Amino acid sequence: MITGRYAPSPSGRMHLGNLLCCLLAWLSAKSKGGQVLLRIEDLDTQRCPRHFADAIVEDLAWLGLSADGPEPPLYQSERAEIYQYYYDKLADRGLVYPCFCSRSQLHAASAPHRSDGQVIYAGTCRHLTPAQVAEKRKIRAPAWRVRVPDEEIAFVDGHMGPYAENLARDCGDFYLRRADGVFAYQLAVVVDDALMGVTEVVRGADLLSSTPRQLWLYRELGLTPPAFYHLPLLLAADGRRLSKRDGDQSLEHLRQKYAPEEVIGRLAFACGLQDAPRPVRPEELVSDFCWARVPRQDLCLPEGLF
Ligand code: GLU
Repeated sequence: MITGRYAPSPSGRMHLGNLLCCLLAWLSAKSKGGQVLLRIEDLDTQRCPRHFADAIVEDLAWLGLSADGPEPPLYQSERAEIYQYYYDKLADRGLVYPCFCSRSQLHAASAPHRSDGQVIYAGTCRHLTPAQVAEKRKIRAPAWRVRVPDEEIAFVDGHMGPYAENLARDCGDFYLRRADGVFAYQLAVVVDDALMGVTEVVRGADLLSSTPRQLWLYRELGLTPPAFYHLPLLLAADGRRLSKRDGDQSLEHLRQKYAPEEVIGRLAFACGLQDAPRPVRPEELVSDFCWARVPRQDLCLPEGLF
């Protein structure tokens, strides 16, 4: 059974970029006779209030893209004990260490940056002695990083094709847990997708570069990885990345202006699944869906489409 998933972070109302991701996740699974599960990625409960999660469920129903389960959806904020179990598996092998670096230390001018703009961790706290750790803990609570190997992790993305990163060189030791105890996305997403039986992950191309880290975690934790399909980012007509700040692209606004089939039809047109922006229901797109019709490069929303 093919199992896809939606994994939205409810830090606001969904916008067109989130919706495109849901539409393609749904079509990718349904076109193979599969199902789609819903997981709310609300690890950061401060930024992700429950009412936005409820709005996502409601917006998906309005669009005709409701998940097939679980009911209620899975909330990452309720799964700390499960993440702890897997975190401990890595910690017990000596792979996890405390990091006391401040934000400004991490962003020091000389620090190398990844292609996605993130800093490659220089390993400053990798070799602290127990005495040094004890001393530093008196001053601040550490975040926790995992030691990555000097190894290339390669995979073939179902949409974007081959992709590889050397974890030590291109990424560096990454966070598993924040100083306030909240588990990191990279750990939670791997544990959850594996435990939910997800067989395919469909998500934005901004997460392509997270995939080698996640594949490595799957291996280290003895979990089975899914297939990955990364979709192009949806940009505003002027080339800017859409964000939750683009209020007129939010579902709240779109629902006042359009019927659900109009939203789906325009979006399907923008991503190559229809030759015109005519209204359509998601089910009507299933039989003709194939990933080859979706472009790989960033998608600019045509001016005036929404
Ligand atoms: N929660 C992430 C987001 O909303 C998606 C994570 C994933 O699909 O792996 O951007």
